[in-house]
Amino acid sequence: MIRLLEKIIQTQLKFLLLVSATLIITAGCSPPPPARLNRLQWASMGTIAAVQSGDLDTAQQLRTLALDEFAAVERELSGWSESSTLAEVNRHAGGEGAVPISQSFSEIFKLSAKVTRESGGAFNPLIAPVLRIWGFNGATPPAATPSTEVLQRALALACIDDVELTASSNTNMIRLLRSGMQLDFGAVAKGYAVDLVWRSAREQGLTDALIDLGGNLRALGEARPGREGWLTGIRDPFHDSRLVAKVLLRDGEAVATSGNYERFVEINGERCAHIIDGRTAMPVKGMAAVTVVAQDGATADALSTALFVLSVEEGKKLIQEHYPESLALWIPDVQPLRIITTAPMEARLQR
Ligand code: AMP
Ligand code: MG
Repeated sequence: MIRLLEKIIQTQLKFLLLVSATLIITAGCSPPPPARLNRLQWASMGTIAAVQSGDLDTAQQLRTLALDEFAAVERELSGWSESSTLAEVNRHAGGEGAVPISQSFSEIFKLSAKVTRESGGAFNPLIAPVLRIWGFNGATPPAATPSTEVLQRALALACIDDVELTASSNTNMIRLLRSGMQLDFGAVAKGYAVDLVWRSAREQGLTDALIDLGGNLRALGEARPGREGWLTGIRDPFHDSRLVAKVLLRDGEAVATSGNYERFVEINGERCAHIIDGRTAMPVKGMAAVTVVAQDGATADALSTALFVLSVEEGKKLIQEHYPESLALWIPDVQPLRIITTAPMEARLQR
């Protein structure tokens, strides 16, 4: 509970920073004075959700859409609720029958499996048994570093080929073939939820708004006429109140950040991050934050987690080969602050 509260408070901070970064640009430097942005925010999916728009009516309509979509995603994909579809799928692991799932569940699994293969298993939505050993996902943190044997046994349950997905236009079913397997969409569900709201908003003709779920943002149109998007801040992971740079999100683009500063456990006095290397079962060290701008929220979310695990070189290769239109920025966990970018990110950054 304390960890959850901490996360909410820290996410609130992150949210406020992103908002203030947006305000920096909308303030502009010449007349006419900026139109006020309307910002509506509420608690959702264990974090802070928000919508912004210069038009109050748009912001209110968007909030109504977001409330519905986020609740639907939670019913399907929550790792915390016993009654979610995800919990049912996990309970049936190793059983005979497949579990019916929604189109959304199927889509999010397909994207996760794709990134798992592309990242050589660094990203893996089946990492949950390993996460629990390290004291995450509601488990008690261990008193000492878990043994290699225990970790390897849990890692052996994280084979993406042991998931059977039957997807057609009207039926989607999933089956985890081995007992003890567990899916966890913590690395991608928020970005995906933002996409669902974004799509519904588009269908309803809403524009010029920003959707945010715990720092997973996606842009509709622009903040003000002529701005060509929404300027968002990239937070300094070592100083809550500072931004390291800003990046303009063009219409339809999304941004996500993965960091080691929000959720961690301490074992033997050492801080262990909540992102685990799917190849070794060990918490990732050496990286403070990774930010990715992509064409949609789920991709940005999945890639920021994948790139957090991979080395910078491996991450650059992954982006180049599979997501050439995406932008990435790394902040290693060293002082003084160092920023590494892909060339397209560098070209878009405002410092
Ligand atoms: P994010 O903040 O989007 O980077 O997601 C972090 C969350 O993803 C963690 O809290 C875990 O629930 C989950 N996770 C941790 N390690 C991995 C991994 N290697 N692959 C996929 N999901 C992971
Ligand atoms: Mg992520």
